[in-house]
Amino acid sequence: MSVNRDFFLRRGVNYDLQSAGPTADEWAEADRLPERLVATHCSFCGVQCAMYLKVAGDRVIGVEPRDFPHNRGALCPKGVVAYQQANHPERLTHPLIRRGGKGGRLERASWDEALDHVAGRWRAIQAAHGRDAVAVYSGSSMTNEKCYLVGKFARVALGTRHVDYNGRLCMSSAAAAYAKAFGIDRAPLPMTDVPRADCLLVVGSNVAECFPIVMQWVWQARDRGARLVVLDPRETPIARTADLWLPVRPGTDLAVLNAMLRQLVHDGLVDEAYLAARTVGWEAVLAAVEPYTPERAERIAGVPAARIVAAARLYGRAATSLILHARGIEHSTHGVDNCLACINLALARGQVGRPGGGTAMLTGQGNGQGGREVGQKANQLPGYRHIDVPADREYVARVWGIPVDELPGAGAAATEMVHLMAEGRIKSCLVLCSNLMVSLPDNAVVARALANLDPLVVVDFFLSETAERADVVLPGTVWCEDEGTTTNLEGRVVKINRAARAPGEARTDWEILCDLAGRLGKERWFPFRSAREIWDELRVASRGGTADYFGITWERIDAEGGVFWPCPSEDHPGTPRLFTDRFGHPDGRARMVPVEYRPPAEEPGEGFPFRLTTGRVVYHYLSGTQTRRLGFLAAQAPEPWVEIHPAAAERLGVVTDERVRVRTPRAAMELRALVVPTIRPDTLFIPFHYGHEQAVNRLTNPAADPGVKIPEYKVCAAAVEKLDGAAVPGREARVNFSAESAPAMFPYAAGETKARS
Ligand code: SF4
Repeated sequence: MSVNRDFFLRRGVNYDLQSAGPTADEWAEADRLPERLVATHCSFCGVQCAMYLKVAGDRVIGVEPRDFPHNRGALCPKGVVAYQQANHPERLTHPLIRRGGKGGRLERASWDEALDHVAGRWRAIQAAHGRDAVAVYSGSSMTNEKCYLVGKFARVALGTRHVDYNGRLCMSSAAAAYAKAFGIDRAPLPMTDVPRADCLLVVGSNVAECFPIVMQWVWQARDRGARLVVLDPRETPIARTADLWLPVRPGTDLAVLNAMLRQLVHDGLVDEAYLAARTVGWEAVLAAVEPYTPERAERIAGVPAARIVAAARLYGRAATSLILHARGIEHSTHGVDNCLACINLALARGQVGRPGGGTAMLTGQGNGQGGREVGQKANQLPGYRHIDVPADREYVARVWGIPVDELPGAGAAATEMVHLMAEGRIKSCLVLCSNLMVSLPDNAVVARALANLDPLVVVDFFLSETAERADVVLPGTVWCEDEGTTTNLEGRVVKINRAARAPGEARTDWEILCDLAGRLGKERWFPFRSAREIWDELRVASRGGTADYFGITWERIDAEGGVFWPCPSEDHPGTPRLFTDRFGHPDGRARMVPVEYRPPAEEPGEGFPFRLTTGRVVYHYLSGTQTRRLGFLAAQAPEPWVEIHPAAAERLGVVTDERVRVRTPRAAMELRALVVPTIRPDTLFIPFHYGHEQAVNRLTNPAADPGVKIPEYKVCAAAVEKLDGAAVPGREARVNFSAESAPAMFPYAAGETKARS
């Protein structure tokens, strides 16, 4: 295997200075070596499926099934090829420095030169502009050990308050809602509980494509006779199999959820005893949902009132019911409220805390759960401690051995940091495991922000769209070249094991951070020689916090099939099910919070008749930095497309495979049309895994939830144009959606449910 020279040349990198990777002889030698299996977990989504990596010498050569409680040997298409990142010809193998200023080329540097340059610039910037002029923007696909070290590095080595992570774009609204309602931000039950449900209500989650392995538990529930109700603007694969699909207008789910709760009340399906014994705030919620008649919800969401009533009755009459929700409702300017509406429904039915009942968020990133509780979030310290609570600050300062007044306060959210960069208030940023140029909305602003930084320092193992713009690129390791732990979407802590040697001079992220800390004169606080040493400090730093990892040892994880937090001592069994007796608030009761429907920040109007929504496809992960490089996955979905309903396509004169232009008030992009009857006629869908001109986040709206700052990726106003120049007049292109105008979307009569196949 040789380096992909064209790839690097096109990006202005001196390719001759990259490693050639394993040669044919080296591969032949690997073939002769005995094989061994290394037990580990997938690098991609929050399910964290267990797998064995097949290893010859120090090279990963394949993958084998591994039985584990939550994936039972199964892997999705991404998991099967994840290992191919390790020997990929586009791996970064040496540090790179941009020579000749911002217009210059990235060229090879030694580690000493690169790290000295970065540390020197940071010292100079902080001396001139204050500590907060340097920021850290991290990710949640890294191990807990790395995420923990990022938070400590920012606050102790740099002394900046500006540290945040890309989970801000992913889980922050669900996290805030769970913390507010339950007092603990974690899915309340293990995945193996799903088959116990008699009704599954899936809200804004394309489960089959985004979390394929969760589907085996859904199928098991269905085999037992569970009913399935799906709210989604698209008839996704899981919606296709549902008893009832409610194709809501993007951004309007809350009206339907409130109307469903009102219907439960009117049908006498509320668990009054549970509400009285275990919750606070029911009366206010009761009053808030009363105006949400099914007819009002129909007007807002574009779903017939009878469907909403039928959904409420399927959900409300089930003895055990579980709501699964994800980014479809969380990527919203009212994402927290949307999650609270789900929680209100489940509490009203007395489901939260029952085996198989309640609510669960489907966390997207591999370590999306752990990444938000070990202290790399703008306002958090390890153990889910809060940076503005004096006792929390004192505890962590004591563990770290620093005076508490040296611990910075809360910093800017990731989405706010970008604006501070664009305004010149943040002058340098260390980016780890994040691809801002693809994942942040309105990326013209992101490009301006990154161009303002000097230096922009990126740690990555591929030259991502963000790394291409860096002044210094530091080559990191892929997941199977290091070890540590992750916490999956259930709250189960699992162990990632090292299977391969890093290529060239690539180093683990934690080694890079420790080295940089040393060059900043903070070596004493970063003496780590292994990931295990970091884990042991993290256990102590989390001790007594909400997310208490203290009792979880690496040995226990291996022996017990993962351990669920909180686990306060080594003889504690861990906590697979939360809230069985009490919630996380001091009085043990859940908080019910009245929530009102508010329209999305941007609605269709003159010149922009459609609602554009975005999402994942099964073959790709997040910004695609990894999966777009893996041959099989890239071949299945090599470029983005726009899904258009046949009724809309006919009016526009657009056919499948025709290239069209999609415009929003921010930008336009050209891409292939896919005419499908599985989307609302007033809605467009574009997958978000692609870079440069193919990044749909050039189009999306940066408006964010006012509390947690999560952007409204899931809805903005848009137009479609044929590329032959035939502009589409706004009003004529507007497509009304109702049961009458789109009968194909309601193939069964009101009040009935779809026949089960
Ligand atoms: Fe499992 Fe997710 Fe990896 Fe697929 S991507 S194998 S569902 S962890």
